Amino acid sequence: MKISQIETFILRMPLGAETFLSSQATFPERNSFLVRVTTSDGIVGWGEGGQWGPPGPVAACVNDVLAPIILGQDFVEPPRLWERLYAHTRDFGQKGTYIEAMSALDIAGWDIWGQRLGQPVHALLGGAFRDRIRAYATGFYYRQDSKNQNDRLDAIAAEAKRHLASGFDTVKMKVGLLSVEEDAERVAAVRAGIGPDIKLLVDANHAYGTATAIRLGRELEKYGVGWFEEPVVPEDRVGYRRVRDALTVPIAGGECEFTRYGFRDLFLGECVDIAQPDISACGGLSEWLKIQTLASAFGVLTIPHVWGSGIALATALQALAAMPPSPHTIYPVPIQNEPVVEYDRTPNALRDDLLVESIEFKEGYLSVPSGPGLGVTVNDEVLAKYKSAR
Ligand code: CA
Repeated sequence: MKISQIETFILRMPLGAETFLSSQATFPERNSFLVRVTTSDGIVGWGEGGQWGPPGPVAACVNDVLAPIILGQDFVEPPRLWERLYAHTRDFGQKGTYIEAMSALDIAGWDIWGQRLGQPVHALLGGAFRDRIRAYATGFYYRQDSKNQNDRLDAIAAEAKRHLASGFDTVKMKVGLLSVEEDAERVAAVRAGIGPDIKLLVDANHAYGTATAIRLGRELEKYGVGWFEEPVVPEDRVGYRRVRDALTVPIAGGECEFTRYGFRDLFLGECVDIAQPDISACGGLSEWLKIQTLASAFGVLTIPHVWGSGIALATALQALAAMPPSPHTIYPVPIQNEPVVEYDRTPNALRDDLLVESIEFKEGYLSVPSGPGLGVTVNDEVLAKYKSAR
């Protein structure tokens, strides 16, 4: 079985009036970079690369550098291929775009491998511990049109109501764009909106220096926050540890980290309680396995970052199905020792409409696709609708 075709797709969905902001960026569109790999036997594998950065450079890494190595060659099991591709790009691509490109090809490889063996990816990853994953709602972004604090707090109350009605028992909100005082007020508004029993997670997207992160963290402690995500910039490992030492709120991070080597440093630095590799960015499923294993040895729970298309979501569900509770208990508790899956609730047709088989969300859980490979296929019409030339 040879690799006969590698096609890259840049998908864009303009958000128009739904444009939103995090502490780091305005999002006027959602985009995804996908790769479709076809074998001489007619198997089609899909993979996604990158999380929210520009998709063009990732496509160039695939088309100009990585695809020529693979094209026309025999199919190689993805973990083996990973070593070969990483060795080829190590001198110039240890983090960032090249690893995102490798992630896409690696995920497509697992999709093909599973279909070839007639097994879902979670079986190849070691077998399923669960067939559905408790999902948490990511939302409470900033809006450009809500300059007025009262409008903002009204919008927060309305959004809290929506997530509760959908069956979520955990929500995640954004902080970091406003002053600590204003964001603390937003945290209080979300807590008031969801009530005392719903778990609240808070994400700063590395907006703070250490002292400010600790100051905001003291506020979070008052509202029973389940984790404080990316309090400081990903390069500041000492800052991470200082924040973690100062607070009782668990510290999460890792969506901007890459490969087993990057996560090794995050763990040796004692930076996080929860590691959040993005499987479409950290090196794909092959590298996910190594990162998650390393995390378990360091007593760190792994809960992946997921913010892409339906392909990224299906990939995460396959990976999470096969992740052991960490550490073991007879009745694992979500976020304590049982993984949950991030389920972004901002508008994104690439997540909701791209797949032929919609991923079932019921009673707060997402079902793990059970078909061979990733267990999902891409709808050609939706693909064509959002396909962008660059
Ligand atoms: Ca995040």
